[in-house]
Amino acid sequence: MSIAGNLKIIHDRIAVAAHKARRDPASVRLVAVSKTQPAEAVTEAARAGQLLFGENYVQEFAAKAAEVKGAVEWHFIGSLQSNKVKYIAGLVALIHSVDRFSLAEEIDRQWGKLGKSCDVLIQVNIAGEATKSGTTSTGLIDLVRSVARLPHLRVRGLMTMPPFFDDPEGARPYFRELRRLAGEITAAAIPDVTMAELSMGMSGDFEAAIEEGATLVRIGTAVFGERQYR
Ligand SMILES: *Cc1c(COP(=O)(O)O)cnc(C)c1O
Repeated sequence: MSIAGNLKIIHDRIAVAAHKARRDPASVRLVAVSKTQPAEAVTEAARAGQLLFGENYVQEFAAKAAEVKGAVEWHFIGSLQSNKVKYIAGLVALIHSVDRFSLAEEIDRQWGKLGKSCDVLIQVNIAGEATKSGTTSTGLIDLVRSVARLPHLRVRGLMTMPPFFDDPEGARPYFRELRRLAGEITAAAIPDVTMAELSMGMSGDFEAAIEEGATLVRIGTAVFGERQYR
């Protein structure tokens, strides 16, 4: 199947899941996760109308962003070391993976140098898995409050990566919990914080995520096929 064909199938599946949840399919944006895929694959997806891409690795992203021509938008979705933030400053429209204050401070500093603001999501490790990034649920609200005070950064929502399950229904409670946490933060009415975005759902479980309120689904293999590790 071609990338264009895969995209069509995914959009149909997004629409079915959205309708099931009585949501407008346009309220769900597809982030095509292009990590390990060559610039040509991104260009091919862009020609098929997919203009939003998610990348995980700073060096790989910087090289690819320089190669891809045209009006594409990049999101950074991977775990991020503070000393690498400078390489993505100004190049990404949204960072999904802010999980600690020191990282937020560096994003604030780098975007500030450009006289710009960066939109970010706070990544939550709901299951508390040692192998995954993300703040704990209990630390979330304090982190949001402190990040919100930084002038060159705007908190726009939350992101999570649940534990792996063969059955997508296994992930559903984690998606539901992320939405509940976003509701708590909204209720706290923290200045300059909105919970407009919930980034959750990947190739294996995005329909469940949409039913639970995802506004950004991060889909890699279902768009591009297997990853191209070199
Ligand atoms: C790789 C990755 C994805 C996409 O995973 P697929 O299963 O290939 O759809 C989504 N989110 C994050 C954070 C990733 O690292």
